Amino acid sequence: MVRFSRKSYSTLHEWFSSAGTVSLVVHARPDGDAMGSASALAGYLRKAFGSDVLILAPDAYPSTLDFMVTPSDVIDASSDMDLAAGRIAGSDLIVSLDHGDFSRTDSLERHLAGARCRKVLIDHHQSPDLASYGLVFSSVDVSSTCELLYHILMRMPGVRRASDLPQRSAFCLMAGMTTDTNNFANSVFPSTLSMAADLLAAGVDRNLILDRLYSSYRENRLRAMGSLLLERMHVSGNGVAYAVFDRQTIARFGLQDGETEGFVNIPLSMSGVRFSLFLKEDGDVFRVSIRSKKGFSASRMARRYFNGGGHENAAGGRLRIPDDLPSADDVEAYVESVTARFLQDEALPQTEQK
Ligand code: 5GP
Ligand code: MN
Repeated sequence: MVRFSRKSYSTLHEWFSSAGTVSLVVHARPDGDAMGSASALAGYLRKAFGSDVLILAPDAYPSTLDFMVTPSDVIDASSDMDLAAGRIAGSDLIVSLDHGDFSRTDSLERHLAGARCRKVLIDHHQSPDLASYGLVFSSVDVSSTCELLYHILMRMPGVRRASDLPQRSAFCLMAGMTTDTNNFANSVFPSTLSMAADLLAAGVDRNLILDRLYSSYRENRLRAMGSLLLERMHVSGNGVAYAVFDRQTIARFGLQDGETEGFVNIPLSMSGVRFSLFLKEDGDVFRVSIRSKKGFSASRMARRYFNGGGHENAAGGRLRIPDDLPSADDVEAYVESVTARFLQDEALPQTEQK
């Protein structure tokens, strides 16, 4: 169960009630947990305080999340930076959701760091940047930011159960939690199930969420998955599986943002695979997703070799061309060499810790 001090909750409520203009900030390439938590909080703040609330995103969210986001709620900084910067400057309160420091907000970082208003963090990643926020709600003992936000909202005056929230907020909390747990496959705590029970009792349509998240893909995604399994996936003897989708593969299947979601989990279903990496070429970077089995640290691998970070068993980062790789053709050799080195470096501490 997540607990913060009584004072933290009362200060948060005071800040919510006294802020006319609120900006909810999500990380770059926002996922379901980021957009779900921001949409849920937007709905609550409007209903409870009549606040002027908008979501600030460093770039666009994938269209696969359309069902949980109201487009007019969102400012996409990559399409109008001046609007985003002006919004930050005019905000009474900034709430960071689903990231632990402003560096994950790309070009918004300097505006957010420079803003003089009150700042709140609500997040479930390791090592939050405590110094940047006046109030911090951070815990890794929850499934998702959506779950953490749910527990916080339950402590607000006048809210005792999910049915006291706007219906749409309850729906978004369930949807975001479902994406981050991969439909209850990872990071499920007793408190996650209590939250889900309360949300279901409040009338959240979980079947609709499942339909939108897992039964609404285009045929292209499945064809691309076929290529992943038959052609792109490499399985090494040392427990690492990886796949690279370069620009040609992405073009071949006409893949859009969000359509490779979950691909990184597939190789982990093999016995003996301890790490799975999925890399996708995007302009002059490869975006990297890493998943690991219990006892192996995806977040350490992401920090050490992929300019990233994340959770113990689900992390990510990026490789830049030419800073990290001379050219796109070098990516497979890089992955093989750094993962082998990582396993070698970790072998001793890992077995000693057990
Ligand atoms: P995904 O593989 O789904 O894109 O990301 C999995 C997790 O890795 C995210 O929830 C986030 O915690 C973390 N992550 C992904 N990309 C980055 C990154 O560039 N930097 C950091 N610090 N974490 C990342
Ligand atoms: Mn999350």
